[in-house]
Amino acid sequence: MLYTTLFLAVLLFVIIAKYFVKPSEKCPECSAIRVDDHPICSCGWVFEYPDDDEPIEYGDPDEAL
Ligand SMILES: [Zn+2]
Repeated sequence: MLYTTLFLAVLLFVIIAKYFVKPSEKCPECSAIRVDDHPICSCGWVFEYPDDDEPIEYGDPDEAL
């Protein structure tokens, strides 16, 4: 009984900790922390796709400076 309560207490603590300590989104490719909700990581990993599910054009040659 004691261990069950202890387990629940730990579980609750972990859930609360996860809720409050929201880690920054990390890139699964290079583990870089996502900065300012930027949709694309510097390594080219796309965090978000637009509504049409098309990958964001990255380094479009037509828009090269
Ligand atoms: Zn990355």
